[in-house]
Amino acid sequence: MGVALTEKSRLEHLRKGTPSIATICSHSSLQIFHGGRSEGFNTIGVAQGTPPRFYQAFPLARPNEFLTVDRWENIGGLVDKLNERRAVIIPTGSFVEYVGPERFNALPVPVFGNRRVMEWESDREKERVWLEKAGVPMPRKYREPAEVDGPVIVKYYGAKGGKGFILAKDREDLLSSPIRQPHVIQEYIIGTRYYLHFFYSPLSKEGYRVADGTLELLGIDRRDEANIDELYKLGSQEGLNRSGIQPTFVVTGNVPVVIRESLLQQIFDIAGNIVETSIELFGGMVGPFCVEGIMTEELKFKVFEISTRIVAGTNLFINGSPYSDMVAPSLSTGRRIALELKRAAAEDRLEEVLS
Ligand code: AMP
Repeated sequence: MGVALTEKSRLEHLRKGTPSIATICSHSSLQIFHGGRSEGFNTIGVAQGTPPRFYQAFPLARPNEFLTVDRWENIGGLVDKLNERRAVIIPTGSFVEYVGPERFNALPVPVFGNRRVMEWESDREKERVWLEKAGVPMPRKYREPAEVDGPVIVKYYGAKGGKGFILAKDREDLLSSPIRQPHVIQEYIIGTRYYLHFFYSPLSKEGYRVADGTLELLGIDRRDEANIDELYKLGSQEGLNRSGIQPTFVVTGNVPVVIRESLLQQIFDIAGNIVETSIELFGGMVGPFCVEGIMTEELKFKVFEISTRIVAGTNLFINGSPYSDMVAPSLSTGRRIALELKRAAAEDRLEEVLS
């Protein structure tokens, strides 16, 4: 397997010396710098304006250097400096949010992972095609309110930060909700949410084999979502609506979880199928990804979303998780990325993990 390179020459300069690790000063940057530094990499924090002061409080996770831009739209001005330092960008949710998918994709700096995954992940319709092709169980999707026969969640396209979703307990409730366009109507799954942190290595041949590489489970978290996590304490949805309180799914933090051991094979099968289908569709995902879903009382995992890069829930496990400790001691996702990059550089296989 190989990631399709838009410009092969982007990687040539990396071969002349050790790459640096660069990311935006946000999201999971402390973990990425900490992991990079512990594997001996030079690390670069990219910030808008003055870098946040809190880095001073974490000497082991502070980047070796900051590069700054006045506004995110001008990030292109850093390209020469990044390439001089042989930087590899580690993508996080912040790149899409601050820099924007088009500008980010066009940056002529090597990126860890396959850039093509972004178009499949950021579009809910394309993501569904991918997951359905992989045979992944998902919440039912309704084309119109007339089909609805149970509780639903209405998601707007491009809804930012989990705000503006609508929950309806049935069709009648949905029809009386003020729905704007464009949106998707999805079956509301009752169960327990889990966010599964996987890592796919195309380089490794030892471990849980998927396609030409291996799949690792590095941790699991659950997101604390304001205010939905607390709403149940206040009463029923209708009563809340009358009081003008709408549910929001804004993530405010994360808690570590483990799942029943007997469920592990089910989630490995799901993640393995997602990886194999990604190879067929667009040359494959590389590195960290998160499968986000709900375990029902029938013990069936239904996937409502996939994130194809490091997720912030991995910040719980800077020192390893109950799962990653069984892969290697003190293995965070940030350090796992650094290890993959180090191996790719040592084996002259950078094109298999970068794009
Ligand atoms: P998403 O934007 O798809 O990641 O969804 C944001 C949040 O909405 C999730 O973290 C869940 O708490 C909740 N959610 C999304 N889809 C469903 C679903 N089909 N059933 C129940 N809850 C959901």
